[in-house]
Amino acid sequence: MNILVVYAHPEPRSLNGSLKDFMVRHLERAGHRVQVSDLYAMNWKASLDANDSLERHGGERFYPSLESKHAFENDLQSDDIVREQEKLRWADAVILQFPLWWFSMPAILKGWVERVYAYGLAYGVGEHSDARWGERYGEGRFAGKRAMLVVTTGGWESHYSARGINGPIDDLLFPIQHGILYYPGFDVLPPFVVYRTSRVDEAKYAELSATLGRRLDDLWNTAPIAFRPQNSGAYAIPALTLRDDLAPDQTGFAAHLEEAAELATRP
Ligand SMILES: Cc1cc2nc3c(=O)[nH]c(=O)nc-3n(C[C@H](O)[C@H](O)[C@H](O)COP(=O)(O)OP(=O)(O)OC[C@H]3O[C@@H](n4cnc5c(N)ncnc54)[C@H](O)[C@@H]3O)c2cc1C
Repeated sequence: MNILVVYAHPEPRSLNGSLKDFMVRHLERAGHRVQVSDLYAMNWKASLDANDSLERHGGERFYPSLESKHAFENDLQSDDIVREQEKLRWADAVILQFPLWWFSMPAILKGWVERVYAYGLAYGVGEHSDARWGERYGEGRFAGKRAMLVVTTGGWESHYSARGINGPIDDLLFPIQHGILYYPGFDVLPPFVVYRTSRVDEAKYAELSATLGRRLDDLWNTAPIAFRPQNSGAYAIPALTLRDDLAPDQTGFAAHLEEAAELATRP
């Protein structure tokens, strides 16, 4: 299998750097082909702007989405964007690896998503009408590929538990897992999260890498997070609200997860 690791940490000798090297070795030993986009080492340009297109389409005013669409459709994207899109097409699985910074991904990785996820590739795909609202959330260009987050946090596991002060980790990662990964079609595996990084020593590192190794061995067998597909009848279109009879007592992020009883009856 082909695996792309998109890695965002500025220091190769960091915990993240060690875990990334471990992942590459482990996956290659298992016979997979691996590419790493080491964003800091690549000096990745994080800001989406008018220079991302080789030829401006609009007039004076810069329209990010329309410019992206035009550049994507007409082979006018800058080379760094094209190279990353080729890696995405090549990959059967994509791993985004990063330290949690201010409750989200480092800016350089957010900028990778903003620039590489072009209009026509990751969004704006499929028919948009009152009957269908595009191919997204379970459909899209990356359908059939798997994705997983590898995240480290300074905070403790309890700080990210259901009643923890930082908010549940599933909620914090929802915009990435549901918004950035499920939206363009990836099957999203449960994240691998390392908490309380300041306490990691040799013994803990050995334990972490063994667990991570098992997660990598199971990359193709692990059940994805049961996000609800948009176009399977669960949502009213075009309002895109969840049907009243599904998860009637749930609101917020958790409502967009299929419940065990529904999964059991899915064809
Ligand atoms: C701007 C910023 C914002 C932040 N925001 C948040 C936030 O919102 N929430 C939150 O919880 N945290 C936050 N943090 C903390 C951050 O998430 C952690 O610092 C980060 O996850 C640690 O990962 P690292 O790779 O930098 O670890 P390192 O600092 O490199 O290492 C952590 C520990 O692992 C040990 N280690 C490293 N490699 C090995 C190895 N090979 N073998 C054995 N031990 C090893 C090191 O000795 C060290 O003790 C933030 C930090 C910054 C800088």
